[in-house]
Amino acid sequence: MEKQNYIALSALQHFAYCPRQFALIHLEQVWADNFFTAHGNLLHERVDSCEPEQRGNVRFERGVAAISHELRINGKLDLLEVEGKPPTNYFPVEYKRGKPKLEYWDKIQLCAQALCLEEMRNVKIEEAALWYWQVRKRELVLIDDVLRNATLAAIDGAHALLASGKTPSPIDDKKRCKACSLVDLCEPKTFRHDHSSAYIDALFSESTNSDSPFSQSQGNPSDED
Ligand code: SF4
Repeated sequence: MEKQNYIALSALQHFAYCPRQFALIHLEQVWADNFFTAHGNLLHERVDSCEPEQRGNVRFERGVAAISHELRINGKLDLLEVEGKPPTNYFPVEYKRGKPKLEYWDKIQLCAQALCLEEMRNVKIEEAALWYWQVRKRELVLIDDVLRNATLAAIDGAHALLASGKTPSPIDDKKRCKACSLVDLCEPKTFRHDHSSAYIDALFSESTNSDSPFSQSQGNPSDED
């Protein structure tokens, strides 16, 4: 698949959280701050404005630019800890407003940072960390194969979604929607009750496949509820 554009590292977290949120922000250019996003932005501004510093054997670099031409992703690392003289150990750290999660949303963004560094500096990164403001806690993250595969899948999915130019339907997760800054603009409840969105989705996706069950049944929209 042709990957037209570079995707921001932070956008991968949007995609992992909800593909519709990713599409609303990065395809439709819709954005709305809520308290959480505004506070998160402030936190990142503070982190980015700090000067690099050396403490013992470790150099702390802030706001480090990162890119992978192979994966067509780019962005900034909040913090990169560089330990020792060559062979140097690189340890990315991403700051988040909330608290540690079981889901991979934040870890995918962090792993994508590691993939960029690996390509840029020809190194292997085994570990990184997420630092959570709400609980003032640093969570060690292993950059293992499971996380790498999830991250590569998210990158591919995000590129495919951008290339399709099509905003997906809302996810079926009320808890996630409640915490989403775009809930008022997205109107997930309306979409869930508006059967025509699924009908039209099916119409377009199946229009090139005349053998599909949809083309035979004529896809009654009320079947999708
Ligand atoms: S409100 Fe729900 S469906 Fe809509 S963008 Fe947010 S998480 Fe996705």
